[in-house]
Amino acid sequence: MNLVLMGLPGAGKGTQAAKIIEDYAIPHISTGDMFRAAIKDQTPLGQEAKSYMDKGELVPDEVTIGIVRERLAKEDCANGFLLDGFPRTVKQADALEALLADLNKQIDHVIHIGVNPEKLVPRLTGRRICPTCGATYHVIYNPPKVEGVCDIDGSALVQREDDQEETVRRRLEVNVAQAQPLIDFYAEKGYLRNLDGDRPINEVYSDVQALLGGQ
Ligand code: ADP
Ligand code: ADP
Repeated sequence: MNLVLMGLPGAGKGTQAAKIIEDYAIPHISTGDMFRAAIKDQTPLGQEAKSYMDKGELVPDEVTIGIVRERLAKEDCANGFLLDGFPRTVKQADALEALLADLNKQIDHVIHIGVNPEKLVPRLTGRRICPTCGATYHVIYNPPKVEGVCDIDGSALVQREDDQEETVRRRLEVNVAQAQPLIDFYAEKGYLRNLDGDRPINEVYSDVQALLGGQ
């Protein structure tokens, strides 16, 4: 199953992705996670990406398309993949179509998690992540069992640098501007599946399961 998860920052892509990959056994390809890994490893890609991410801007299309091209060609994508946070521009979507055509694949569903942008600032500023396993929490909407501690491995949770309010607002602005043309692109292709993301995490996931069917 070849899936794309779409939605504004904070819509719940990473949260739903964690559930999908567990139930459907496909690799989770998050461009944001790939950039953060490159920053941690201090690679040239990481250095370039960081200069954009710190400001809440998008990393240039050529760079982003390049890393996705390499990733999709890997063996573990043979039976499907879950793209999270890519594409974010029509240029990226066009490139993805071409890339998949080369690999003799096509998208099955583009799952668009819709949430009113006004609700997303508190979601993002309250997000906490585990630096060890990447699990995502929210101080109010999805708290860990013990405050500030990862349920899975006991690490101290951290806040992403770009989840500070000022950067959050810029990210939302940048992403809102790109969203509608992308939605139109996939609606036209017949791939678009709209889900209401303004509900509790498990209710959103029930809709995902209804869409994807049993494992
Ligand atoms: P994205 O990957 O789309 O940026 P995340 O999955 O990281 O979004 O979610 C952003 C924040 O909102 C996290 O703190 C997460 O725990 C929380 N969250 C995710 N889905 C929901 C939901 N349906 N209702 C309330 N909070 C949510
Ligand atoms: P969110 O969905 O909450 O914005 P991500 O972790 O997906 O968070 O992305 C973090 C940052 O990485 C973005 O603000 C952007 O700078 C960069 N990024 C991620 N995916 C893309 C993409 N497809 N195109 C351009 N930049 C991206």
